[in-house]
Amino acid sequence: MTEHFIYGPVPSRRLGHSLGVDLVPYKVCSYDCIYCQLGRTKAKTIERKPYIPVGSILDQVYQKLKEGVCADYITLAGSGEPTLNSEIGTLIHEIKKHTEIPVAVLTNGSLLGNSQVRESMMEADVVLPSLDAYDQQGFEAINRPHPEISFETMVHGLVAFRKEYPGQIWLEVFILDGINATEADAIQFRDWIARINPQKIHINTAVRPSAEAHARQVSSEGMARFCKILGKEAEVIAPFRGSEKHERRANVEEDLLSLLARRPCTLDDISSGLTVHKNEVLKYLEPLVRNHTIDMVKKGSVVYYQPKKRQ
Ligand code: SF4
Repeated sequence: MTEHFIYGPVPSRRLGHSLGVDLVPYKVCSYDCIYCQLGRTKAKTIERKPYIPVGSILDQVYQKLKEGVCADYITLAGSGEPTLNSEIGTLIHEIKKHTEIPVAVLTNGSLLGNSQVRESMMEADVVLPSLDAYDQQGFEAINRPHPEISFETMVHGLVAFRKEYPGQIWLEVFILDGINATEADAIQFRDWIARINPQKIHINTAVRPSAEAHARQVSSEGMARFCKILGKEAEVIAPFRGSEKHERRANVEEDLLSLLARRPCTLDDISSGLTVHKNEVLKYLEPLVRNHTIDMVKKGSVVYYQPKKRQ
């Protein structure tokens, strides 16, 4: 079976319809965030190498473009930290030569202290890094980074990147109940964010199943209070509203499994992302749940579908 490095377009609360590109295999990451939707990181790394060769990725991107894919962004992200792929700069450069669709990079920002990593992202249209802590203690508790990454190197990397990068930076702050979500926490974040000076600040919380049970969702009132302290560039990420247009697709089951391998989704997420009517999605979901290929997980009153837990 061909390995797929491209998925979607999938619904993204930040990027509309996003054509996802995997740059590293599951789950190559420098962090082990307690809120990660992909489960725990087995082996944290900061080694940069061509985990997936850029030629193999580009073949699939070109194929999608040839099929006339309609997406708001081509998003370099996937099953771990994309800047660990040492060929990310070449990939961005080559994609930009072939399409007008803007390129976004979803990164945890941990390697931005490295000037080569900063340089490799100069041609991206938008970079979406994370900042989930304002000191070493919080950084260790939430992101559980590789031991060679300190809070100071990470955050100074973000500040340096802002000075060099001409594009848009949309910073994500992921807040968790009882951990980093009080108004006092927001004031501490505000000082660092002022130094990073992103064009947008996205406040997110654990709406999907997380790696650890203590990574708990913040209430909408708590999100709003936190957001207000960060000023007018800050917004709580609104739930995605997908297109109402639906069309029949031949390879729904394959695309569905590919989508769920990246993150847990609701029925609405799947329907919008694959542009397949909900009733049709259910025809594929139900047998997959029955034969234990995927699980249904309840978070509050919302049901998510995800692959059976990897051991
Ligand atoms: S949330 Fe992102 S940065 Fe954190 S462990 Fe998961 S893949 Fe890595």
